[in-house]
Amino acid sequence: AKIDEFAWTGVNERTFVAVKPDGVQRKLVGEIVRRFEKKGFKLVGLKLVQASEDILREHYWDLRTKPFYNRLISYMSSGPVVVMVWQGLEVVKTARKMLGETNPAESLPGTIRGDYCVEVGKNVIHGSDSVESAQREISLWFGPNELHRWRSSSSQWIY
Ligand code: GDP
Ligand code: MG
Repeated sequence: AKIDEFAWTGVNERTFVAVKPDGVQRKLVGEIVRRFEKKGFKLVGLKLVQASEDILREHYWDLRTKPFYNRLISYMSSGPVVVMVWQGLEVVKTARKMLGETNPAESLPGTIRGDYCVEVGKNVIHGSDSVESAQREISLWFGPNELHRWRSSSSQWIY
């Protein structure tokens, strides 16, 4: 189901971020949440889940013909993932910058992939690549009751 499809602009833009199984195993959840919180984005959903193959195949539908696709699905189902929804101005583009490049070797120090991983097949984090992908991914991973509306006490110091 589509969630609030007319409200996903400006300060209400949302993105989908997931700490992958290697990130959870390597205890990077707190560090990753910390970076998004300190940046000024608002957390509107978060949960630890063991992803099913079905949800992963739908999530990575656009990569289904890639040679690494099956490896990607088994990597992503190798343990629990922490999925989250972050909200804020230009959050989709900014989150991608915070993540770094797909290949950690091309990711600058200071980015999450640049700081915490070395290989493309174990790159610790996912972030939506566009507002449209974010809408699709959020509605795939979260039910409407799992996304929370709340007033952040610091928003007047961020906007
Ligand atoms: P992303 O949007 O930066 O995550 O990159 P893509 O959407 O292109 O790919 C999705 C995920 O597939 C990446 O984050 C990697 O975990 C994995 N992946 C992409 N390219 C490769 C590759 O060449 N080899 C392997 N093993 N995994 C890859
Ligand atoms: Mg992608």
